[in-house]
Amino acid sequence: MGTIHTMKILIVEDEHKTGEYLRQGLAESGFITELASNGVDGLHLAMTGNFDLLVLDVMLPGLNGWQVLERLRQFGRDMPVLFLTARDQIDDRVKGLELGADDYLVKPFAFSELLARVRTLLRRGKTSIETTVLRAADLELDLLRRRVTRAGTRIELTAKEFALLELLLRRQGEVLPRSMIASQVWDMNFDSDTNVIDVAIRRLRAKVDDPYEPRLIRTARGMGYVLEAPGGI
Ligand code: CA
Repeated sequence: MGTIHTMKILIVEDEHKTGEYLRQGLAESGFITELASNGVDGLHLAMTGNFDLLVLDVMLPGLNGWQVLERLRQFGRDMPVLFLTARDQIDDRVKGLELGADDYLVKPFAFSELLARVRTLLRRGKTSIETTVLRAADLELDLLRRRVTRAGTRIELTAKEFALLELLLRRQGEVLPRSMIASQVWDMNFDSDTNVIDVAIRRLRAKVDDPYEPRLIRTARGMGYVLEAPGGI
């Protein structure tokens, strides 16, 4: 136990009450904490202070949370970053994750939830990237960075196409019925004669499969679709 160093956490939060609450809670949980109340001070501290983790509010005076994160990553600072966002919108989260955030919490949240995320991020350390990439042959889907590549080439997908590909990759080798895809990706049930899923699969194939070898997404006639790399994963 004696050799484990105490983790240092920087909190960047302009709402005084929230910031103090987080600082105190994390200090009581055994962390060394510092609090910055704007983006400029936050960035400066993060660049110079040797922190193990950042808790970063999105809406900040000076520089906002995204700008702080972007600059940190540009300067090669790769400590885990937990975003706090008041805006419960997927676009915001995706934007944060694309910029290299490791996780996010939507306000309001329970302190216990924040603490659990902080501990997970610190435990994962720098190996986190590897565990969030799904693969089949030379196709890669990076969950954290919301990025898809095939043979090393970046492929732009819509949010639905991304979700569809994620499902196929997670369950690779299994034939997924249309009804299951509909409920998982579209969160609803379609009539059996709808072609929404077939159209989506066709578009996905055009991007990730048609220009490449081998073909990975197969139609199981009358049953559904399966993603499979020849010769296994
Ligand atoms: Ca704020």
